[in-house]
Amino acid sequence: MVSKEQILQWLQAVAVVLEQNKDYLTELDAAIGDADHGINMNRGFQKVATQLPSVADKDIGNILKTVSMTLISSVGGASGPLYGTMFLRASTAVAGKSELTDEEMVTLFQAFVEGIVQRGKANLGDKTMLDSLSPAADTFEQAVVAGASTLEALQQAVAAAEEGMKQTIPLVAKKGRASYLGDRSVGHQDPGATSTYLILKTLWETVNSQS
Ligand code: ADP
Ligand code: MG
Repeated sequence: MVSKEQILQWLQAVAVVLEQNKDYLTELDAAIGDADHGINMNRGFQKVATQLPSVADKDIGNILKTVSMTLISSVGGASGPLYGTMFLRASTAVAGKSELTDEEMVTLFQAFVEGIVQRGKANLGDKTMLDSLSPAADTFEQAVVAGASTLEALQQAVAAAEEGMKQTIPLVAKKGRASYLGDRSVGHQDPGATSTYLILKTLWETVNSQS
């Protein structure tokens, strides 16, 4: 079970984590993109953090919708619409909820994946955020089905996201700016896969700190 309060704390914590990792994400993007991923993500989530108090009394669907709209309107670059659509799909998937059962968390993860795919049309192995998100979603579902607690399932999902993130290093980018580099994108970790890992790790840490 994940509560609305945990969702709100998670999103606030993401703003802190992305600020701390702004230079790291931007350095990753400097290698295979245009050196703005950390700037984009930090700008978006600082705006999200300022918006959250005004929707704190709303349900989780409404909160995630606000995240979506804020990211779409404040983040330039591919990642704004991608994460915006991810949170938009999630907001409809959990509309009206004030807490999420493990099964509803499975639905949330699936909606995240569907949102990214809907917007970006990437396949697994294209060296994008999908490469950390998709294994995390699959692992979370498998863990829940196998009877793991929410926290254990999140921990396993984060481990899968980290593994997927690292596995982007040898890949040739097939989507986004990095794809313009072709083979020269090999040997670099994807910035979006890295921000996705950080966002999911922060979810696990938030739930962990409260149990
Ligand atoms: P931009 O590329 O416009 O500068 P960012 O630097 O903020 O935007 O984000 C780059 C990240 O976006 C990449 O590292 C990759 O993970 C992700 N990305 C780009 N295109 C796609 C896509 N079509 N599908 C999924 N993710 C994508
Ligand atoms: Mg960029």
